[in-house]
Order: sequence, then structure tokens, then C-alpha cells
Amino acid sequence: MWLKIKPEVPLILGDVRAGSQFLSSIHYIPGRVLRGAWAEWLQAQDQQNILPTVERVRIGNFFPTTEWRPIRYTFPLPLSALTCKRKSGFLREPHKENPGHGVVDTLLPQLAYSLLEEAGARFSVPFALTCIECGDRMEPAGGFYTLYRDGSTERYAQIQLRYHAQTKVGLSRHRRAAVEQMLYTASALSPRVKSLQEEDETTALIFMGRVHGEREDVEALIDAVNHVAIGALHTRGYGRVRAEEADVEGFPGIKERVTRFKETLAHCWQDLKRLAVNAEDLPEGPEGIYFSVDLLSPGVFRQGGVPGLVPTLHINGQALEPVFWMTRPDLASGWSAGWGLPKPTNLAARMGSTYVYRWEGDPKPLITALEHLERRGIGERCDEGFGECLICHPFHQEVEEK
Ligand SMILES: [Zn+2]
Repeated sequence: MWLKIKPEVPLILGDVRAGSQFLSSIHYIPGRVLRGAWAEWLQAQDQQNILPTVERVRIGNFFPTTEWRPIRYTFPLPLSALTCKRKSGFLREPHKENPGHGVVDTLLPQLAYSLLEEAGARFSVPFALTCIECGDRMEPAGGFYTLYRDGSTERYAQIQLRYHAQTKVGLSRHRRAAVEQMLYTASALSPRVKSLQEEDETTALIFMGRVHGEREDVEALIDAVNHVAIGALHTRGYGRVRAEEADVEGFPGIKERVTRFKETLAHCWQDLKRLAVNAEDLPEGPEGIYFSVDLLSPGVFRQGGVPGLVPTLHINGQALEPVFWMTRPDLASGWSAGWGLPKPTNLAARMGSTYVYRWEGDPKPLITALEHLERRGIGERCDEGFGECLICHPFHQEVEEK
């Protein structure tokens, strides 16, 4: 189920870090922030069994966007998405000042190239991509994007966040400890963003995200979020939001996403095979079922007992290692609501990391296992919102932007 959260006042998301005089916000609402708000609301009402209650709903991360046309989804772009270095952005952005030379996804072409090489293909040129509009180099696109249904067509857009005027505030570094007041500079997200329509200057910022749980538990979560402000400085007037169920239609299920991923990989294979000097010796297509696991939040993984950036999947008694991946390091910090102290920081794989696995045999148990994985998350500290993932991110279809 998708929910939408609309800030009514400026919002500061993120932790107060020891040793820093700056209080800045991250650009999405981590699921754990909403879970914390729910726990706080239950506590304020003297409810018992708070932890088992809030654990009944798995709360994903909420990503920034705005209401323009019906929303099909809002997600972080995968690390494999590239855009023109000279003029970045989607080709068909609604606002006339925003369009760039396009955003393309390189995961499937790169995967096909590497699988063809494994199959013995010899290419006369290395794999490289340049902008189709101007021929300039490409760089990682990054950030969040939304797919809107615009009449009979679909359009991608990225919003530009705005920051609320900075304010100096004094606050104690550890919420429960009586330390002297420190002066902080707070930089909050504005509840207004630049409009996608040319006639308006600004429009309301909203966050879209997914939750998994029983309807009555989700309604209890919504009720709590509507009563408790979220984020840092929430007792000082920041972070009041409205949450409600969102009308999101037509987001493809896992089976369909896996099928489309397979079809696009087959196309890329055919296209690249033609470029090989020994094309006639190569197989017609890739063997087995390939699928990707894409991180919608940082992921905390272990490889052979030590922190790592690459997750192993366990499906039907088989351990699967990725055959291809793109990741970068990040840090997973956290805040223990119970202790009022920061949690230990782990190495994490960055949001947008993408991992491709190969499955051989019956697709049925695979799809069931992937549905479970998407509901539960991948890796460690999933209960804090780390490891939220999407199977076969729809943006991998955008080998050329439509
Ligand atoms: Zn260009």
C-alpha cells in the first residue's frame, strides 16, 4: 500500500551528530522516523506492548515529489542511471526550464556486454556511452524521480527541493542528557518546492512511500503521524505533517518486472552481439533468469563475517552471489529512541545500489522468494529501515529514454 505524507511546516530529517554545529536534512523520510513517531504517540497515550505493535507494519522510506498528474511511483534513481554532463535531466520534464538531454539506465547494456564477453565475444571497441543529443560524456544522474501518467502518455520528472531560511537554535546534543545548550545552524526542507507547471511558482512538497501490513495497523500508523511531528527539533515547531493513503495505480508486480527485465536484457544482447567481430559464434541469448535487487535505502551486509557491500541471497536452499553489481559505500547511523543515544555506525551500501543475480530452473519458487524479500528487506537492521529493496527497478527498462 502506498501512503503520501505532506509537510505542513519545514522539516529536518536526520540525526543530530556529535561534534557538528550544523543540523541539515536528508532528502527523504526514513521509515524508522515514522516508526519512532508512532511509538512516541503510543507512549504518550500510556499504551502497553509498543514494540510488538509498531513491528506489525513494515514501513519503507518515503521519497520527495509533488502532485501534478496521477503518480505511478516515486523512487531513487539506481546508481546505473546516467545523464549528460553538459545538460542533465529528463528529456520531457514538464516545466520548460527543466528538460535536459535525457537520463538513461546502463545496467542492462553493461550486463549484456559482460555476459557476451564471458561467452567469448570479442569487441573491437570498449563499452562506452555518450549523450545522444550532444555527444558529451555522461555522469551519474542521482536523486529521486517520479513517473506521472499524463493523459495517454507517461512522463518523468525530478523536483527541486528548497530550503527554509536558516535559523540559529540552541539545543542539547543528547535529548535526555542535561548538557549545556549549543548553538546550532539548522537548515530545513521547505514544505514548498518549485512547481512543475509554468504558471505557478511553487507547489506543495509531498513524500511517497510503501508500507506492508494489515489495514487497521496502517490506519493506526497514519493516525499517529498526524498527531506527532517528525524529525529533528519537532518539539520546536518543525516537522508537522499530514499522512494519508495514496492512490497509486498500475505499479507492476514482481513477475511482470522480472519478465520485462528479461526481455530488455535479450534486446541489449542482440544489439551488442552484432558489434562483436565473432557474432556468428555466440549464443542467441543469455541462459537462465536474471533479476536485479535494487536498494531503496542504505543496506547493511556481511560477507564472510565482516562488513561488506555485496549481499548474498538465500533462495530455496541455494546461496546466490551477484554476477554483476554497482554500489558505493555509505554509513548507516541510527538513533536509539529507548536510550536517547546514537547507535553504532555500520558500513552500508548506498541507496540506489544495484545487484544482478542469475537463477536456473523453476521460476515459481524464485518469484515467491523475491516477494518475501521485497516485503522484508535485505541484509541486517531491516527493522530500522535499512535494506529496503525493489526487485528489477523499472528504471532499468530505460536503456533509451522514451
Ligand atoms: Zn548532452
